[in-house]
Amino acid sequence: MITRSLFLLALAAALGFGQTIRWITLEQLQKSLPKEAISVVFDIDDTTLFTSAGFQWGTKVYGKDIVSAGVSVKEEDLPSAEARTKYREFWTKMNNGLDEYSVKKWIAVELIRLHRERGDTIHFVTKRIFTGTETLTALIKESFGFTDLDPVIFTNRGSKTPAFRKIGAVVSYGDSDGDIRESIAAGARPIRVMRGRNSVNLEPVQNGAFGEEVLINSEM
Ligand SMILES: [Mg+2]
Repeated sequence: MITRSLFLLALAAALGFGQTIRWITLEQLQKSLPKEAISVVFDIDDTTLFTSAGFQWGTKVYGKDIVSAGVSVKEEDLPSAEARTKYREFWTKMNNGLDEYSVKKWIAVELIRLHRERGDTIHFVTKRIFTGTETLTALIKESFGFTDLDPVIFTNRGSKTPAFRKIGAVVSYGDSDGDIRESIAAGARPIRVMRGRNSVNLEPVQNGAFGEEVLINSEM
């Protein structure tokens, strides 16, 4: 009997059942926040906006070597001047209009409302490529009803940690493992927003794997 129990325990551990995900509801999150106003930060793609339409279009038109959601293709890694031109063309379009086809995530609406009611300062940081102009800030401002909003910070595929530090982010929302890792590095509390299952970003994510809290019902 004891042998059998030990065997089942070992099996459960091997299958990862021992690692329980720290699920959190919006209500629990609200109660856990400090009394004073804080600075919070949101990722854009698959956290604030469901942006798959633009990326899907980009991959179809420019090819997956140039546009692939979630894959950190850098301009300097591209083989030709032509490829680099296409790359800049896509990112210019993505940041200056394609988000007209992006859909607000329900969870982002709720989170932004929650933080606004607390008087928190809300920032947006993305790893997208900045090509000189963007209408993303204006779109977010309008879509979420901000009266005042600092421009979205673009890290051009680089780590978000310096931006998180600069903002003084206390809480950080993101769907990617990188968001969580870089939040921890900056000393911010990472909260995982789950990527929708229909996202064209197929980069693997390990929700809860960093010991971070995972928001329930955050896929949409
Ligand atoms: Mg994202």
